[in-house]
Amino acid sequence: MKNPTLTVEDLQKAGALLRAGEVVAFPTETVYGLGANALDEIACAKIFALKGRPADNPLIIHIASLDMLDELTEITPMARKLAKAFWPGPLTMVLPKKPGIPDIVSAGLYTVGIRFPSHPTAQELIRSAGQPIAAPSANLSGRPSPTTAKHVAEDFIDQLLILDSGPVEIGLESTVIDVSGEHPILLRPGFITINQLEKILDQKVRLANLEDARRPAAPGMKYRHYAPKGDLRLVTTRDQALKQHQELRDQHKTEPLCILTEHPDQSWPDHLEVFLIAKHGDLETYARNMFAALRYADSSGYQSIIMEAVPAEGLGLAIMNRLEKAAKKA
Ligand code: AMP
Ligand code: MG
Repeated sequence: MKNPTLTVEDLQKAGALLRAGEVVAFPTETVYGLGANALDEIACAKIFALKGRPADNPLIIHIASLDMLDELTEITPMARKLAKAFWPGPLTMVLPKKPGIPDIVSAGLYTVGIRFPSHPTAQELIRSAGQPIAAPSANLSGRPSPTTAKHVAEDFIDQLLILDSGPVEIGLESTVIDVSGEHPILLRPGFITINQLEKILDQKVRLANLEDARRPAAPGMKYRHYAPKGDLRLVTTRDQALKQHQELRDQHKTEPLCILTEHPDQSWPDHLEVFLIAKHGDLETYARNMFAALRYADSSGYQSIIMEAVPAEGLGLAIMNRLEKAAKKA
């Protein structure tokens, strides 16, 4: 357990609540999750109701042993390789599901997404519950994902037990790969990159058409996601940042928040209200702070936000996947 204030009793209480069909918020290495017993249909329905999550957006099931994977899915050879390389860790695998998983969890699909998180509190909670835990991110649908217990409390005031283990390590949801068919398909980019996956599988990993809203391979991707309340604009250059700053200030009649990186050889003008998110090029820190920065903008009442984009490669692909959705108007 990372947070010394979290006790064995807290874990036992949370496990008992899960067994009783209640919903509990808990940390993982990616973001905080909103968990329920994955085999209890009514408990899982509570997650959808609490979040306001559309019924066609499936939940990821969290496990704490490979035996659990075997009970829930038909394990494919590709899945075995990836589990060996990346589990426990920030990788979700979509596999054919076995009977017993309620339809509500998989949104009626014949496949299900499974992840073995590395966070000790998450693992202990699953063991304490004695059941796999279905969990999406612990935020209201559409809002930026929570990377601290405080973020969870902002969205669900007094509504649930939140296990607080401090800020998460990664800050970005898991990589989702479909290994249910003949060829692997990347459904959602994340901390584990395409290159890493290809190396282990020794074959090309196709990128799902992430913007295909008509027949999305990963249902959740058609929705507006991760969005702050303020008007968010992404910029790639200093000139763009300054131009957008002018425009947004004129339009909203208030000062925008500029979420920018720290460049070694240039500084930002003094009159900008700047949130320095990371050193330029430090994508891991950028990913860890990204949602917190957007939530900071909201809680401070900014009506507009300028955010410096990163190159969409490696971890940057995952960052930009989230930011482009966050900046979407509808
Ligand atoms: P979240 O729980 O909000 O991190 O999102 C879970 C995402 O995982 C969904 O929005 C889907 O994109 C993906 N996912 C989960 N299960 C499946 C599945 N059976 N098939 C395809 N994608 C899935
Ligand atoms: Mg989410």
